[in-house]
Amino acid sequence: MSTPVRTRFAPSPTGYLHIGGARTALFSWAFARRHGGSFVLRIEDTDVARSTPEAVQAILDGMKWLGLEHDEGPFYQMQRMDRYKEVLTKMLAEGTAYYCYTSPEELEEIREAQRTRGEKPRYDGRWRPEPGKTLPPVPAGIEPVVRFKNPKDGLVSWNDLVKGHIEIANAELDDLIIARPDGTPTYNFCVVIDDWDMGITHVIRGDDHVNNTPRQINILQALGATVPEYAHLSMILGDDGLKLSKRRNSVAVTDFDDKGYLPEAIINYLARLGWSHGDDEVFSREQFVEWFDLDHITPSAAQFNTEKLNWLNAHYIKQADLAVLAADIKRRLAARGVNLENGPELEPLIALYRERVSTMVELADALQAFYVQPEVSEELASKHFTEPAIEALAALATKLKTVEWEKTALNAAIKEICAEKGLKMPQVAIPLRVRLLGVPQTPSIDAVLEVMGRDRVLARLSA
Ligand code: GLU
Repeated sequence: MSTPVRTRFAPSPTGYLHIGGARTALFSWAFARRHGGSFVLRIEDTDVARSTPEAVQAILDGMKWLGLEHDEGPFYQMQRMDRYKEVLTKMLAEGTAYYCYTSPEELEEIREAQRTRGEKPRYDGRWRPEPGKTLPPVPAGIEPVVRFKNPKDGLVSWNDLVKGHIEIANAELDDLIIARPDGTPTYNFCVVIDDWDMGITHVIRGDDHVNNTPRQINILQALGATVPEYAHLSMILGDDGLKLSKRRNSVAVTDFDDKGYLPEAIINYLARLGWSHGDDEVFSREQFVEWFDLDHITPSAAQFNTEKLNWLNAHYIKQADLAVLAADIKRRLAARGVNLENGPELEPLIALYRERVSTMVELADALQAFYVQPEVSEELASKHFTEPAIEALAALATKLKTVEWEKTALNAAIKEICAEKGLKMPQVAIPLRVRLLGVPQTPSIDAVLEVMGRDRVLARLSA
């Protein structure tokens, strides 16, 4: 590419960072990285009523959790008001924008009349200056809006890098309001000025913005600015094929953390939501950056598949650095008020259990029992603590006082008890698991004993 690539992620801080936004951010980030360009973070906070500092923080936290580092920003639109006003003034002076004094009531009348005539309701251009046209007298007491003088004829078109060629007749487009009566610029205008000032070469965003694009292109052209490339990503549907919703789905990036997903799994998962590289499903962030292009993004909607995400997450849990997983488990258990001083080292425990789980929450659930002895339910107790089982556990407790604390020796010790009591391995091992950890199933019992340590095992057996 001739000019250095510059992409941006431009969330409105009106809520958490949702999964669709995260994918947009990932694709924008990856495209910049792929081409050695820059990734800009811009906070579109001009909707003052709905923007909150908490939402800004949630977005920054989400980006950080995903490891999507920006090179420039965050830029805040509210801090750029002077610049927008400067461009507005310039456009008014050059005649690419004009004051419009039509009141909301008047506008409603115009629309009503159009509707009765069977026409599409729209601004009728009464304040639009044209050569030889006499404008109405400026009414007293009305603060005007500023409208963009959209070209009347011809087409506005672009070659969308995901959706292909898109065009729309200018006759379909109203003269957009670019500043409100109080002089504040409107959404589409700020986006245009920012993309221009920030030298954005590729706008990668959700396809809910497709309708804004022709308007934005026209304004850019009126300003003599270079029009960036656009890539509009299709939406993400839930597992049920319906639009994602906070009520039915995990949609905030932080929900995925709460539910025990690793950021690497989410990144890998999001990468495949609408983009593909042959049949490759599992790849690192680095590999993704190397492969990522806009040609292999599908224009159709992508459907979320929790089962597949779980499968990927299990994969990343299996191969993650033990120290990273230990830090994660520590955080989760601490949040539950579990004191890690009361139990064995975390890393060997994680090594023992990580093959069996697909989320960090499952792992934390399983490991918690090593630090807080669980209550044994009535049901499990009556099923497993039979006379012979209790006798066997008592005999085992005595034997475990002196046996060498190592897997093979521990296994032999349990087998000896089985032989002595005429029981099969599970008849001792299962009650032992229930006694120690409150569950009938665990990884191999000798390994569990080994990591738990002699003192803890004996303490729990004697309790
Ligand atoms: N602020 C817009 C949003 O959060 C994105 C605008 C854009 O990417 O152009 O949907």
